[in-house]
Amino acid sequence: MLPLVKLVGANAGGHVGWATKRCRICSKSLVVGEDTVYQCSNCSTKYGAYFCSSDTKVLHHRCPYCKQPLEPAV
Ligand SMILES: [Zn+2]
Ligand SMILES: [Zn+2]
Repeated sequence: MLPLVKLVGANAGGHVGWATKRCRICSKSLVVGEDTVYQCSNCSTKYGAYFCSSDTKVLHHRCPYCKQPLEPAV
């Protein structure tokens, strides 16, 4: 349930450092937790397969690399 991002930044006091991703299609920067970000669990690490909500619609919720359904990134 807890996001792994929590492990980053043991320093208290600063801001937590939002996990930001770039949409693979339009290069829009996406803030996980604030923007709707979709990812392919297969390709997110290999290709940086993260997508904004509008491109996710265009892709019909399918990864353009492996055709698996995209999942919301948390
Ligand atoms: Zn996009
Ligand atoms: Zn994929």
